[in-house]
Amino acid sequence: MESKLILNGTLINAGFILKADLLVTDGKIAAIDDNLQNQNPDSDFIDATGKLIFPGGIDPHVHFALPTPAGPSCDDFLSGSRAAIAGGTTFFMDFVTPGRGQSLQEALEYRLKETAESQLECGLHMGITWYDETIPEQMCWCVKEAGISSFKAYLAYKGSIGIEYSELEQVMKTAASLGAVVLVHCEEGDDILTKQKEFLKQGKTAPVYHALSRPAETEAESVRKVVDLCRKTGCRTYIVHTSAAQSIEYIRQGKKEGLPLYCETCPQYLLLDESVYQKPAAESLKYVISPPIRSKADQDSLWLAVQDGTMDVISTDHCPFNTLGQKNQGMHDFTKIPNGAGGVEHRLKLIYTYGVLTGKISLQQFVALTSTNAAKILGLYPRKGEIAVGSDADLVIWDPDFSSVISAENNIQTCDEDIFEGMDVKGNAWKVIINRDPLR
Ligand SMILES: [Zn+2]
Repeated sequence: MESKLILNGTLINAGFILKADLLVTDGKIAAIDDNLQNQNPDSDFIDATGKLIFPGGIDPHVHFALPTPAGPSCDDFLSGSRAAIAGGTTFFMDFVTPGRGQSLQEALEYRLKETAESQLECGLHMGITWYDETIPEQMCWCVKEAGISSFKAYLAYKGSIGIEYSELEQVMKTAASLGAVVLVHCEEGDDILTKQKEFLKQGKTAPVYHALSRPAETEAESVRKVVDLCRKTGCRTYIVHTSAAQSIEYIRQGKKEGLPLYCETCPQYLLLDESVYQKPAAESLKYVISPPIRSKADQDSLWLAVQDGTMDVISTDHCPFNTLGQKNQGMHDFTKIPNGAGGVEHRLKLIYTYGVLTGKISLQQFVALTSTNAAKILGLYPRKGEIAVGSDADLVIWDPDFSSVISAENNIQTCDEDIFEGMDVKGNAWKVIINRDPLR
């Protein structure tokens, strides 16, 4: 039996704050009490005086080694999980993205091999990237045989992995009958395709047209329809990467009705605004993500949603591509720029600095948004997302006094650029405990 003590820290749970010692035994939290050292004099210990202790971060939305025509996203499960650990995230969820007509089982088996490199426990959401009458049965297999209880559907990316609303309705009906949750990427795929074609025809090819082809209303209208489907099917519905004020209004309304509706946003939508697309084309390539970065007004309403509890989760949608060789393939055609950016390493620092230290959210809200709520929605709670006796010893010992500046040069995550380059951050995952010894 291997034990470790963490002494004199301040434990932050979503529900309460407590100054206490922790005893970790065989990867589980074995005791929370005062003066645990007296009772366990022979155990190794970490002195966490002056430190905060959070339940390990949970990032339910990352894309490691995501295949695209411009090559895979540049963090694989090894580098991505190392970056996650460095940033205080101890559990993440990635995706299975079946090819058109490929069985969910076959796609899962392939993806699982790739996850073997991960240095962290992780989970997979099953993408429903095409639809026929076999899908409900295959979804049933996922839940009952493969232990997967979350599915992901895309309403953007028509012609590749996107599906129709009528198909999504069937997916949601099936998921509701299985008690599963459906994550939805809400953007009006057809509208976006039309706008993209118009711009290209007019010779408007620069990265800024990526954003202009996907205005806020293309997201909000899709959210409105998905909230309707949530009401109609009773399916537990999770809107990913919410970025627009109007989307938040529809979600807030749905939640008031008591619908089983959840939503997330990401640091890039909370901390950056659309002025990034006014930079020279070569510089703005890195901000090409979907949905695009929005206006200040959208940003303000996202923060309000974070503050008032409408927002459940802050994830990253981590999906970096190098500018050199990947993003710049679309220098003269914005539709060829691979969509995505990195953030798994920075999430906790950014939200701590710009959420907690600015007084926008409390430490308890911080923990709820970065760990506890995701654990609850995804069926991991209370094994994860809470510092409690019997829970996994996934813990972040946080140094609140550490200051740094984000720079691609110093990152553990792999990418030649960083959308948060130059931002000052305070706080740092001083030690991260993952079911066992501190890894760093
Ligand atoms: Zn994503």
